[in-house]
Amino acid sequence: MNASTKAYEELVTRLKRTALLGSCSAVLEWDEQTYLPREGAEHRANQLALLAGMVHEQATNPEIGNLLVELEANTSLGEASPEMANIREARHEYDRATKLPRRLVEELSRVATLSQHAWVQARKNNQFQDFLPWLEQMIDLKREQASAIGYQGNHAYDALLDEYEPGATSEMIEQAFIPLRNELVSLVSAIKNSGVTPDISLLTRKYPVEKQREFSISAAEAIGFDFAAGRLDIAAHPFCSGFGPGDCRLTTRYDEHHFPGAFFGTLHEAGHGIYEQGLCKEHFGTAMGSSTSLGIHESQSRMWENLVGRSRAFWDHFYQPAQKLFPEALASVNQEDFYRAINDVRPTFIRVEADEVTYNLHIMLRFELEKSLISGDLKPADLETAWNEKFVEYFGIAPETSANGCLQDVHWSAGLIGYFPTYALGNMYAAQFFNAAEKELGDISKLITNGDFAPLKEWLNQNIHRRGKLYRANRLVEVVTGEALSHGPLIDQLQNKYHELYNL
Ligand code: ZN
Repeated sequence: MNASTKAYEELVTRLKRTALLGSCSAVLEWDEQTYLPREGAEHRANQLALLAGMVHEQATNPEIGNLLVELEANTSLGEASPEMANIREARHEYDRATKLPRRLVEELSRVATLSQHAWVQARKNNQFQDFLPWLEQMIDLKREQASAIGYQGNHAYDALLDEYEPGATSEMIEQAFIPLRNELVSLVSAIKNSGVTPDISLLTRKYPVEKQREFSISAAEAIGFDFAAGRLDIAAHPFCSGFGPGDCRLTTRYDEHHFPGAFFGTLHEAGHGIYEQGLCKEHFGTAMGSSTSLGIHESQSRMWENLVGRSRAFWDHFYQPAQKLFPEALASVNQEDFYRAINDVRPTFIRVEADEVTYNLHIMLRFELEKSLISGDLKPADLETAWNEKFVEYFGIAPETSANGCLQDVHWSAGLIGYFPTYALGNMYAAQFFNAAEKELGDISKLITNGDFAPLKEWLNQNIHRRGKLYRANRLVEVVTGEALSHGPLIDQLQNKYHELYNL
């Protein structure tokens, strides 16, 4: 064994130990969102802050810096080698972490926990003012974090974005968003003027919660989520958390009178879960055993939710079972009317329940607002007004309550700023990956009609999941599809589908 092999092994051991400790906070965070009694919030905040500090201490141990220097001097491996990827990303994370004082890391963690609890209450009571002091604290902390990390010019936002989409900048995001927005706006207006209005009332009939749960689980299982290595619980804001090999948690929320929320929400989170379950177990704790970026993560969830779950083929397979489970709601509804209802396009308030076409506009609105909050152009106290004004500009409607407006998402309360654009990136990546999969697998809709989801899942396992962070997101999409990030395939797919549905 030569010196750099030994140094590499030492580095990997340290990274894995840190990841293991980090995964303990993930368990506590999941529990906090699902089962923690309200009175326990303060104690939980202290537990999580302690762990965040310990993780930070391990991640910034100077010995990691020494090992990296030694490895960087002695390693000459190609771009696509797992060792090189682990070293490259370890350097990236070490540099980010060492710029942050432990005090700030602990404070961010503590405030995030308390602020999320304040958000849940404020959202329930429709009181933006109750959440405002927490938002102000959080924005201050995030600005402090950005300046500690450092950034080019006046793009403090980029320092935060980099945590979720390594290497991406707000300029790059804007370049992809602007042409996408133009195409979407004209598609939305064509749909609005088409005179076609699907009957969506059939989706708000009575769908008993227990049956919704049963149906959601059976669909998640069918597409390839392994319940022997995961579970589904209830949370105010649905999410997926992969704790590590063999343990991935999904959450959803049920409304007895709204079928799509829990069902497509579960498919979405199961898509994230399938990614987590598809990561290489032996690489847990290193870049090679981690997801590429949140944009790539979202490409997986949106693919299963929309490109698969909202397709005709999917309901060729699942409509009969749905009618059997929900006879009161669906016995008299034909499949085509159901298909049209779940693909209804119209401006609505809630992002997570938005249709595929308007969804990205919800993201662009948040991207603009959070950039202004971080730059200081927008004061937290003015957020609700700014939100409502922009909402009218983008959607032509104004939310009447905070819960339907700027209090609907958990992200800002949790300090997840720079996270939203990854959703729209995910939609673009999903369309590109789906086309590439189809080139190799042939007509995917035929497989889906037969309930044969394994070929697509395995294609994703092989081309995306098992690659971990071998490549950065922009390179991965080139390697897998032969093309750079583009809004073209997403627009093509949306136009093909919705021109037919709305007689355009
Ligand atoms: Zn997602």
